Amino acid sequence: MNGPPIPYGRQSISQADIQAVVDVLSSDWLTQGPTVERFEQTVAGYCGTAHGVAVNSATSALHIACLAAGIGPGDILWTSPNTFVASANCGLYCGATVDFVDIDSRTYNMSVERLEEKLEQAERDGKLPKVVIPVHFAGQPCDMEAIGRLAGRYGFTVIEDASHAIGGRYKNEPVGNCRHSAMTVFSFHPVKIITTGEGGMVLTNSPELHERLLRLRSHGITRDPALMAGESHGPWYYEQIELGFNYRMTDIQAALGVSQMTRLDEFVKRRHQLAERYDEALAELPLTLPWQHPDTWSAFHLYVVRLNPGTIRKSRRQVFEDLRGRGLLVNIHYIPVHTQPFYRATGFADGDFPESERYYREAITLPLYAGLAEGDQDRVITTLREIL
Ligand SMILES: *Cc1c(COP(=O)(O)O)cnc(C)c1O
Repeated sequence: MNGPPIPYGRQSISQADIQAVVDVLSSDWLTQGPTVERFEQTVAGYCGTAHGVAVNSATSALHIACLAAGIGPGDILWTSPNTFVASANCGLYCGATVDFVDIDSRTYNMSVERLEEKLEQAERDGKLPKVVIPVHFAGQPCDMEAIGRLAGRYGFTVIEDASHAIGGRYKNEPVGNCRHSAMTVFSFHPVKIITTGEGGMVLTNSPELHERLLRLRSHGITRDPALMAGESHGPWYYEQIELGFNYRMTDIQAALGVSQMTRLDEFVKRRHQLAERYDEALAELPLTLPWQHPDTWSAFHLYVVRLNPGTIRKSRRQVFEDLRGRGLLVNIHYIPVHTQPFYRATGFADGDFPESERYYREAITLPLYAGLAEGDQDRVITTLREIL
């Protein structure tokens, strides 16, 4: 170890962030109140989307987005194998069946070619998906125009898992505007671009989906007389008209979110600067560096390098352990979801999605976050050169 540990990602908290949280603590509202609404308007306004529904995690956001899309037992959801398990689990929460679409070899996002092939086959078999969840891996948006076009042709609902991608852009428009999807989900976990401690949000332009999401966030309860089965008993009256959850975000968290949003563009810009420094410093090493599609401006949640097979004597595991041993807390994103024991038990096996499996064997996520000091980044670069 040649210095203090450097994580692969971490939050960046300012004095203003701290003050915003403290202010809420001495206000009337701790749980969901006016600051949650302000946070929703801030994020929806930034993205140019009509509605935002803040919840206690992106996992909850994915769950209620799936329910609002009407997916249930007998239905099918497709996502990318190169993601966190939450992108797939949300389908299982709803009683649906989950399947995957292999990734593109350059962006590591869901491959549109594989999606198109799989849709053609599924149509022949009468097994078309009801929901498809593209994941904007590492912060780089998927080919949403093509996916949106396929959604129109085959009649599925698109939910973007943009947990990595707030602040990113696709064809020069903000990720989250739902131009090619029904809903977009963000995560505010501390390693992501902005944080609320724990938290997530669903964005949508549909008033119907918005209303449904609000209800599912809070027990399936409505106070709208137009939606009630019976007559109101009085001003206290509410009705539970479906099964919802307590997925509410607190005003304490939302205050942090509102404050963090003021620095979102700065965070993403800094991530790009650091990514460019890596690009230059690592260009001569036997690595494949992150490729950026010209249509996209990544939020750069992750900086992933691939060890070029056959050019390095050390195994990926050895390189990983050498880096960790020197205090560089690199990580791996992601173990293909279909190879998790829980998913294997439902019938998936090695070889089902070969591109994502090949990618997984070679990938290492290097430290990248807005507050990463250049001196610390240089330590990553120097150590990597020595190890390779
Ligand atoms: C982090 C993450 C999630 C889950 O986010 P939480 O807010 O921790 O629930 C879902 N999908 C992807 C791609 C993620 O990276």
